Amino acid sequence: MRLSLKYLIGLVALLSVVLTLAASIISGYRAEQQSLIDGTLETNRAYAEKMAKSTDSFFSSTLQTLKVSAKHLSPYMSPEYVDEYLIPETNRLKEQTNTFNSVLIVDKEGEILSTSPQTLDLMGKKLDSKGGKEALKKREAYISQPYVGLTGRLIIFISHPIFDENGRYLGLIGGTIYLKEDNILQEVLGEHFYENGSYVYVVDQSGRIIYHQNQERVNDIVLENPVVQQLLVGRSGAMEVVNTKDVEMLAGYASLQITNWGVVTQRSKEESLAPSVVMIKEMAKMTIPFLVISLLVILYIAHQIANPLTKLASYAESSTENNQEEKINKVRAWYYEAIQLKKALNYSLNFFQDRVNFFIHQSTIDPLTKLMNRRAMDAHLKTWTEQEIPYAVLIFDIDKFKRVNDTYGHAVGDEVLKYLAESMLEVTRKEDICCRFGGEEFVILLPETDQSAAFHIAERLRKKLESTISPCGEVVTISIGMATYPKDGTHPAELLELADQCLYEAKRAGRNRTVECATLMK
Ligand code: GH3
Ligand code: MG
Ligand code: MG
Repeated sequence: MRLSLKYLIGLVALLSVVLTLAASIISGYRAEQQSLIDGTLETNRAYAEKMAKSTDSFFSSTLQTLKVSAKHLSPYMSPEYVDEYLIPETNRLKEQTNTFNSVLIVDKEGEILSTSPQTLDLMGKKLDSKGGKEALKKREAYISQPYVGLTGRLIIFISHPIFDENGRYLGLIGGTIYLKEDNILQEVLGEHFYENGSYVYVVDQSGRIIYHQNQERVNDIVLENPVVQQLLVGRSGAMEVVNTKDVEMLAGYASLQITNWGVVTQRSKEESLAPSVVMIKEMAKMTIPFLVISLLVILYIAHQIANPLTKLASYAESSTENNQEEKINKVRAWYYEAIQLKKALNYSLNFFQDRVNFFIHQSTIDPLTKLMNRRAMDAHLKTWTEQEIPYAVLIFDIDKFKRVNDTYGHAVGDEVLKYLAESMLEVTRKEDICCRFGGEEFVILLPETDQSAAFHIAERLRKKLESTISPCGEVVTISIGMATYPKDGTHPAELLELADQCLYEAKRAGRNRTVECATLMK
């Protein structure tokens, strides 16, 4: 297939439009993605911070509640007050605050004085849990690390010591939160924006998950998570991270003040970037009409650019046909290259035409005498015969020319031939055709000329030569044979043959004379 300039220009222009569009869509897409990532990281960081603050304030208010209770219980820390004060207080704490899954009061030896709910059936027993024993030992406000309790639950234990007015240690009041069950932490951390794929989890200082929207994950150790590693050294911030399930996440994280825990808010990168996919689809949709319009404009411009060149190329291809110059002049060349090309084509076409004319002329002219040659003569004969224009043929030959050559040399012979040619032109009309037939034989074609007029012209020439000194210093004479169309023959070859026979007859009869066909017949 031959690619035309129009389509090449169109293709290049279209390609550049498409590439530019693609580049801008891609860079727009990248920028959008980056801003979505940055936005999500920042949102998650702020949210984690907020969660950390809420959790901190939850723990400090819980400790405060326990502290008030502890102060209130100080005078009643003996078995006789169990029913009257201790059980109601544990019940109150459990029911009123809705913070704890269970509440208990323990004396300084670790004996459980009261529990809520009472169904636990622990009263009178020794406090045996890990968190409880730690709290008894520490004798201060205390939040335990999560541990697995007697009932197999994952628990944290929050407690406050009870002292009498003299500062003697009497025991503690504390509550448990079961991490894997519905608890107050769930409320604090909220179930807020899980719909958009984001979620919150909390780790303790040993990298164990103590809160997660998916409770199955609670108690998992996720130390290898880079976010958790940051939290364990007390840092807050945001980062891209691959979670334990190999999903890319955008995580914000913040550490808690009171417990050395850390809160992580994260959302999968894929979900965060979903709007950018929508955006790129929108952009692609919006660019389609633009592309179509561009395509049409490009095709139009490409056509305008290519059109002059296409036309010039096609005229150049058929430059031998007629009228090409006229057609080329009609081409609307409106920019430099086309203008130059048009000029060059015109110039070369003219040049070419001149050369052709020159060679046509050369090929029809006899170089010595400047008369027409036999080829030109044949062409005229053919045309006239076809158009049935009556004409006469005179064919003549210099008498004894060999002797002229022999006596004066060939160059002088040539001068005589030229002299004869000039004489022929002198006695004939503009429309008559004078030819050198070959050697020292010549032909004159006389259109629209009858026999007697032709004879008259022949005689005029013969007499002129007969009465003039030729360049050799002597008179040269000629013998002439004559035939007319259509009287003597209907075909040029036939007429020439007849005229030649007349010439032969003229020679035979003594030279320097004109012989007509009519004479020949006699
Ligand atoms: P005739 O025709 O009267 O019978 O005698 P002739 O001597 O003219 O006859 P012939 O045909 O034998 O000689 C023709 C001569 O014309 C021979 C040749 O050398 C000469 N000739 C032919 N062409 C040229 C030419 O171009 N230049 C010169 N100088 N001589 C030529
Ligand atoms: Mg001859
Ligand atoms: Mg001769």
